[in-house]
Amino acid sequence: MNTPVTRSRNIEQLITGIATSDGAGVKLTRVLTGKLQRRLDPFLMLDAFGSDNPDDYIAGFPNHPHRGFETVTYMLAGRMRHRDNAGHEGLLENGGVQWMTAGRGVIHSELPEQIEGVMEGFQLWLNLPARRKMAEPWYRDFASSAIPEYVTAENVTVRVIAGASNGIEGVVSRADTEPLFLDIHLPAGASFTTAIPDTHNAFIYVYRGQVMVGETPVESSRMGILGNTGDGVTVNTSEASRLILIAGKPLNEPIVQYGPFVMNTQEEIHQALDDFNHGRFA
Ligand code: FE
Repeated sequence: MNTPVTRSRNIEQLITGIATSDGAGVKLTRVLTGKLQRRLDPFLMLDAFGSDNPDDYIAGFPNHPHRGFETVTYMLAGRMRHRDNAGHEGLLENGGVQWMTAGRGVIHSELPEQIEGVMEGFQLWLNLPARRKMAEPWYRDFASSAIPEYVTAENVTVRVIAGASNGIEGVVSRADTEPLFLDIHLPAGASFTTAIPDTHNAFIYVYRGQVMVGETPVESSRMGILGNTGDGVTVNTSEASRLILIAGKPLNEPIVQYGPFVMNTQEEIHQALDDFNHGRFA
């Protein structure tokens, strides 16, 4: 089942996220920011959130629009309710994933359904190709139990959210960007290898412990951008560690972002604002 990997990619750059807040005042760490959008095409943003202080998350994200890309929310812990103007509603809980294609326009809210305890997870923005930016909105949520998992001989647990790893297919696939999204749990002393197509841009984000990629340590709360040489990646660790691995095929199209709208031209951004302000996202 294992896909042979002959040469591991190395860490090209380490990134420390920027503490910020978004929505109605949710504290989060923006790991993938605008200046990395070209390097990590087709990914536009990665936010990491994690707090056991309700003040950091309770306000949530009241109604706001998106156009031109997809949002992927992976909830490690906590409960968040999604509602949108296309009539979709879902409760995202521990280990679950929500995948939303905003396409030509969605107005949605993402609000915590908890008043205490830990809320931890990630939101990733995945771009759409120009010809699909105005596609019909699409929404699915997947409970934790629906996410395929495998355990390696070294006791590494891998949750396959998107794409395929060592023969196991995730719950979502996308023809244009071929995203790979893995959540990898390594026990102390374990090593893990997965193939990554050589066309893809890729990065890891460590959220527990510390891992080694080749000679480079990647600490918790760090993103490691993987160089594009190699047919996969090998991660080692001396302590119990957890990380996400994300890869995708670049679109190589112009990226013009204005807040929650990501299009190819300035004109399309003006159009998005005009459509939103005149109720044409309904
Ligand atoms: Fe949103």
